[in-house]
Amino acid sequence: MELQKNFDLKNLNSFNISVKTKYFYKFSSINELQNILEYNKTLKEKTIILGGGSNILFTKDFDGLIIKNEIKGITIKSESKKHVTIEVGAGENWHDFVKWSVTNNLSGIENLALIPGSVGATPIQNIGAYGMEVKNTITKVYYFDIVTQREKILANKKCNFKYRDSIFKNKFKNKFIITKVVFCLNKEHANNSNYGAINEELNKLKMEPSLKSIFQAVISIRNQKLPDPKKLGNSGSFFKNPIIKNQKFVILKKIHPNIVGYPMPSGDIKVAAGWLIEQAGWKGHTEGSAGVHKNQALVLVNYGEATGENILDLSIKIKNSIKEKFDIEITPEVNII
Ligand SMILES: Cc1cc2nc3c(=O)[nH]c(=O)nc-3n(C[C@H](O)[C@H](O)[C@H](O)COP(=O)(O)OP(=O)(O)OC[C@H]3O[C@@H](n4cnc5c(N)ncnc54)[C@H](O)[C@@H]3O)c2cc1C
Repeated sequence: MELQKNFDLKNLNSFNISVKTKYFYKFSSINELQNILEYNKTLKEKTIILGGGSNILFTKDFDGLIIKNEIKGITIKSESKKHVTIEVGAGENWHDFVKWSVTNNLSGIENLALIPGSVGATPIQNIGAYGMEVKNTITKVYYFDIVTQREKILANKKCNFKYRDSIFKNKFKNKFIITKVVFCLNKEHANNSNYGAINEELNKLKMEPSLKSIFQAVISIRNQKLPDPKKLGNSGSFFKNPIIKNQKFVILKKIHPNIVGYPMPSGDIKVAAGWLIEQAGWKGHTEGSAGVHKNQALVLVNYGEATGENILDLSIKIKNSIKEKFDIEITPEVNII
């Protein structure tokens, strides 16, 4: 067992923050996972599981054990006339799996191209982009129950998937390690191009909507819009879009006619957090090496030397100013450690 001590996590988190963990271990099978958890019964260290590190903000050195999931494998489990069921190891890279699905002519996740991170983290916050959410393709999630030390299965309906939320962020928090995710993808292509930005990009690229062209359009949009964490540390959207009552939205709309909101099936309104942050004057703002991206107000960035605490402090100032200006509570999408 290769347990590393005093390990620097700078290259394993997309904010590129230099923090150390007391112990670090990579596992690529359930067996190795069981072994390290067993060994930790003597170490007695608090434990965090890490995937690609693209939705996590370390605010200080971690006095415990970080285990990184590297369980690999993409296996076709069954096939019908219309669908293919695929089991994917939690440590696979998400974008590589999306690429695999497009190469194999299977639709359902192409709009989620280029989202950084691992397959195992996708159900946790039910990743979504360009009109698609991963919950619509997941049939079940395999997880290792830390309490019973057994692998268990949770069917889609039991995962309580919601906007950037699931049972894994709530009731199951700190009690599970996702080991495999099972997806059902479509042989027939729905061509989900009706999301405005995708249509515009397809027109620009002079392409008809198809599985491959939508995949390419999403990559092209994301490359233009979002900073590459390898060049500029960030974790994508720092905050979730807040969901407010329609009544409150109507009042806000009278004061701020341009406020951006999308009706939810519940009748509530999902407000664009990026719009709120921009209106409050934060876009492009910097405090030392921590800043708000100059083109994307929802993206907090590390210009080089920022600490996790610098980013956290800035996020708290932003949160407070949104509460003061709009009486809206915004909450981080990022996991703060
Ligand atoms: C440039 C950029 C763009 C992004 N765009 C989007 C977007 O469009 N839509 C979107 O939804 N997200 C987006 N994200 C956020 C991020 O990519 C996703 O949340 C992704 O699923 C995180 O995966 P990860 O493996 O990096 O998770 P990590 O950051 O490693 O972990 C995130 C959380 O999940 C836990 N965790 C990770 N793996 C496991 C596991 N196997 N079992 C149990 N717990 C686990 C960790 O402990 C942590 O609490 C973006 C991030 C960046 C940097």
